[in-house]
Amino acid sequence: MLHTPPGFVPAPVTLAPPAGDALVFAFAGAMLVVAGNEEAPVVPTLAQALAAGIDGPRHHLGRLAGTDCVAVTLGDTAPAPAGYRLAGLRSLFGTMPEPMLAVAARAFQVVDWDRSHAFCGRCGARTRERPGERAKECPACGLVAYPRVSPAMMVLVIRDGELLLARANRFRNMMYSALAGFVEPGEAIEDCVHREVREEVGIEIDRLEYFASQSWAFPHSLMIAYTAHYAAGALRPDGTEIADARWFLPDALPELPSPMSIARRLIDDTAARLRDGSHAQRAAASPAIE
Ligand SMILES: [Zn+2]
Repeated sequence: MLHTPPGFVPAPVTLAPPAGDALVFAFAGAMLVVAGNEEAPVVPTLAQALAAGIDGPRHHLGRLAGTDCVAVTLGDTAPAPAGYRLAGLRSLFGTMPEPMLAVAARAFQVVDWDRSHAFCGRCGARTRERPGERAKECPACGLVAYPRVSPAMMVLVIRDGELLLARANRFRNMMYSALAGFVEPGEAIEDCVHREVREEVGIEIDRLEYFASQSWAFPHSLMIAYTAHYAAGALRPDGTEIADARWFLPDALPELPSPMSIARRLIDDTAARLRDGSHAQRAAASPAIE
């Protein structure tokens, strides 16, 4: 789960320069510069990074357990200096401590924004940092660009003690997951849930219930997860995005997404509640959130 880790105090702007013991999250493209072996990757301190020539535009992120954390934008194809290697964020799940990984994911989103907003999207002039906040402004036309976060929904639909799981065409294997999709301009998140379910599998749902949300740094999503109940219609996978969709009993689930995903937590949690019967009681006891 990626979210603000315990002990992390975000601070996008600081007047004080980072201390030598600041942690440096430097990205070359989508790859983080780390030292240490495969089992115990570590990020360098600022003093270590500078000694190794790891430097570029810096963005203060905040403090983790009292230590400054800094994102650094390197060239997309910058090589790792001697003693360091480049690691994709996904490869660090399970080996890098979760608070450190969460700050790395945050750093990646800031770096990604930094390098994709070097020029104004409206007039093409070179942008500059806007003082006092995490923003870039265009000196020619005044356009201000903030880091982008794209909201998306995920929903696990329940019917008669069964779960609706779908296999998307983009999945590499026979994995099934909850339905998901990005919010469109003008939509509330609830509108998006209903529309995506209708478009992807052709059914109507009700009794939406919020589950949890997760930041997902690939590259800048906020996944907002719900459960819902089947209301009407026949399952009809759209055939383009969704290859197959079926109802599964909680004790006969197919191949599922990685335990690090919010999808898996949503499925595991809901399946457990269906098994012990608490979901029906809870749903009956609480009013629908719509
Ligand atoms: Zn401009």
